[in-house]
Amino acid sequence: MAKNLTISEFMTTNVAHVDADEKILAIAKKMRRKNISCVMVLEKKAETSQENISPGIPLGIITERNIIHFIADNAGHGLDHVTAKAIVPSTLISIDQSHSLFEAMVLFRSQRVKQLAVLDSEQRLTGIINYSDLIDAYYNQIELQSELGGNNCIDDDSPINTHLLELSLTDPMLKIGNRRSMEIDLKQTYELALRYRRPYSIALIDIDYFKKYNDNYGHQSGDTALIETCNVINNATRGSDRLYRYGGEEFLLLMPETNAEEAKKAIQRLNICVSDSAITHEYSPFGKITVSIGAYSFSPEKDMDSSDSRELYLNEIEENCRQCIAYADDALYAAKSDGRNKTFSVAA
Ligand code: GH3
Ligand code: MG
Ligand code: MG
Repeated sequence: MAKNLTISEFMTTNVAHVDADEKILAIAKKMRRKNISCVMVLEKKAETSQENISPGIPLGIITERNIIHFIADNAGHGLDHVTAKAIVPSTLISIDQSHSLFEAMVLFRSQRVKQLAVLDSEQRLTGIINYSDLIDAYYNQIELQSELGGNNCIDDDSPINTHLLELSLTDPMLKIGNRRSMEIDLKQTYELALRYRRPYSIALIDIDYFKKYNDNYGHQSGDTALIETCNVINNATRGSDRLYRYGGEEFLLLMPETNAEEAKKAIQRLNICVSDSAITHEYSPFGKITVSIGAYSFSPEKDMDSSDSRELYLNEIEENCRQCIAYADDALYAAKSDGRNKTFSVAA
């Protein structure tokens, strides 16, 4: 078993950074001079700070695109006094330096970012990862594995193939996220919800009477129906939502920035979309493929009342993510018990 590369082994440590109160015109000049496409904005260090080991707490990343958008939206208003703080995006997508290459790959994909800030355990900036770091690391990881495996002959069980499988983010049949990547995305979404005090919702979607479909039409036709249903669900979700194969004929839909009311409407809409697609299933009482859906919505406003409880939640992140799924599973069970082809939602 090859060692998995950790972030600190492949991140870029030389990060161009600016203070939050630096003027954007000066930043633009700096970016041009150094020929760089982004800079990290750091909260200004306290005067008393004795060490210079770490440059400070990162607020966010400003890209060329941010600057161009700001200039286009504010033409004629004078830019002389505008600071980095005014244009830095409000959400910083970051990763802990001790995490793995695989986790970084999931975040690049789920958050659709072009760079990730790397933080130490004290939330201080230690580096940055961009696409080229990620691609280099991916190939290094495969090469590392092939050297250890000692052979270049690629058969199904070769170490390279096994390792590629370990690095894969998607389900090979359904072409949506697999369960491993789902777990990482859930954790990250949960952390972001806590840090920025935003809601999110998850939904478990299960095909009704699918065993009967397989038993009557055969497993291969079952696969085709499963792919079709998955495509219907995927096409009916919003761009920011992320669909994963939870297992068998069950999906998990992660809906960031979505509160209980919005989640309820979303799952009702999905349920109708699947039913309207009318994929024939003569052995279901509905005569077509239908799904039952259970949703759970997380609201940090309702769930937490002090900063102490935030610490508590972060410490128990995996357990809390499991609990969120368990609530959605209870809701799914309620939808099934209510006769199937139904939706049911619960909120924290
Ligand atoms: P319910 O309405 O309670 O959900 O009933 P169900 O028959 O859908 O549920 P059950 O859990 O009894 O059966 C699920 C079936 O889904 C059995 C399993 O063979 C089938 N299944 C799971 N994954 C796949 C797959 O990848 N391909 C095919 N063809 N069938 C699958
Ligand atoms: Mg089912
Ligand atoms: Mg099932």
